[in-house]
Amino acid sequence: MKDRLIIFDTTMRDGEQSPGASMTREEKLRIGRQLERMRVDVIEAGFPASSPGDFEAVRAVALAIKDSTVCGLARANDRDISRAAEAVAPAKSSRIHIFIATSPIHMERKLRLTPEQVLTEAVNAARFARRFTDDVEFSPEDAGRSEPDFLCRVLEAVIAEGVKTINIPDTVGYTVPEQFGALIRTLRERIPDSDKVVWSVHCHNDLGLAVANSLAAVMNGARQIECTVNGLGERAGNASLEEVVMAVRTRQDIFPCDTRIDATQIVPASRLVSGITGFPVQPNKAIVGANAFAHEAGIHQDGVLKSRETYEIMRAEDVGWSQNKLVLGKHSGRNAFRQRLKELGIELDSEEAVNAAFVRFKDLADKKHEIFDEDLQALVTDEAHAHDQGERYRLVSLTAHSETGETPYARIVISEDGGEKRAEARGSGPVDASLKAIEIIVNSGAELQLYSVNAITTGTESQGEVTVRLQKGGRIVNGLGADTDIVVASAKAYLSALNKLKSKVERINPQM
Ligand SMILES: [Zn+2]
Repeated sequence: MKDRLIIFDTTMRDGEQSPGASMTREEKLRIGRQLERMRVDVIEAGFPASSPGDFEAVRAVALAIKDSTVCGLARANDRDISRAAEAVAPAKSSRIHIFIATSPIHMERKLRLTPEQVLTEAVNAARFARRFTDDVEFSPEDAGRSEPDFLCRVLEAVIAEGVKTINIPDTVGYTVPEQFGALIRTLRERIPDSDKVVWSVHCHNDLGLAVANSLAAVMNGARQIECTVNGLGERAGNASLEEVVMAVRTRQDIFPCDTRIDATQIVPASRLVSGITGFPVQPNKAIVGANAFAHEAGIHQDGVLKSRETYEIMRAEDVGWSQNKLVLGKHSGRNAFRQRLKELGIELDSEEAVNAAFVRFKDLADKKHEIFDEDLQALVTDEAHAHDQGERYRLVSLTAHSETGETPYARIVISEDGGEKRAEARGSGPVDASLKAIEIIVNSGAELQLYSVNAITTGTESQGEVTVRLQKGGRIVNGLGADTDIVVASAKAYLSALNKLKSKVERINPQM
């Protein structure tokens, strides 16, 4: 019987720390349900002490999720731990994850504590957290640059306090596989009672080695990997869940363990997270990139047609790429629509939401003949966004005009808190003119940091999906909009970002 490799997903904690990837309570609930559907073992839903909003979101996930453990992060102090305990308390299975830095640079420069003081704080925090739950996880932050002797002392002390999981974070993505694997082996060999805990790793991708380091740790005894959907996370991101899971699943001849993950939910999870955060997935991304199973070269096509295994080491449908791309059209009824959403793992909260989405589906089906799964996902994400943010601004109508030799202009009508406002503007292009017209009404003072366009499906009829990133007063948000008309999609994305900017709150972001 193979060992279980525990998948600890931190998309809603570390992943959310990617610039602009902030998630609302509803969005965290939707992601939580998808992770549960994918049979993730532990869901780190957030950092409850960071803000009232995140506390509420973690608590909502804890109330809703039954088949996964729900975890809250806390710094090694009583206030954070009490907040985390309160947030995860409603969960059927809960965990508190405490951390404190152990590297010389962090202790000296960030914490301004001596190693002895850090040791004391770690022990006190472990003891305090154990009052609330048996399932406590401890992380020595920046372990990758910590001194092994000190690390051993701290870990031995917290294991003695009854911590169940020891997580070794390569916080700055500095280590390489051989070295990181050896570190895990050495710690397990040197620390008494090391067999009483689960060894876990949390790797960042600053050198592109997060997955490789995590797998090297597994080969040296780690049995939990902390990862994120699409590899989201601070800076260059975390180890990506889909790559870790499929590497272990595909190479069962090598790995002494396997996960309980339902891999067919990987692509729906990737789409959902990409839709909610506004972070598009690069086409050549392993497992979930649009080209991951696309064969261009003639030789490859010939091989695949003769025998798939010539150029494929896993099957597209095994990770949730649906075969029948063509699903619905303008003659499709509500039941077929609802059934397809279900097959895609999309759950809408109310009948009202299903009706609103169905109306948008019909609108779209009038504009384009073929409606693909990607269109449905974009359509539902748009609707959910509008619903979640309470939608202060909504697009009513847009006329954009561009002609060779003429200065493009746009006329726009938006509703703001239910009242209609209109404006006109000229710009260097129809998109520029439209956004300028919006600003005449809103005057947000926000800075446009990113504007990117993706085609949702292939073909000239494809919907365009636009992501914009706005920055104001140090706060960064992403807005997403989809439409067959790219100028309309841009206006929608801009308004969605403005709505988020209006609803975003300040929070503390831990760097682990
Ligand atoms: Zn991290």
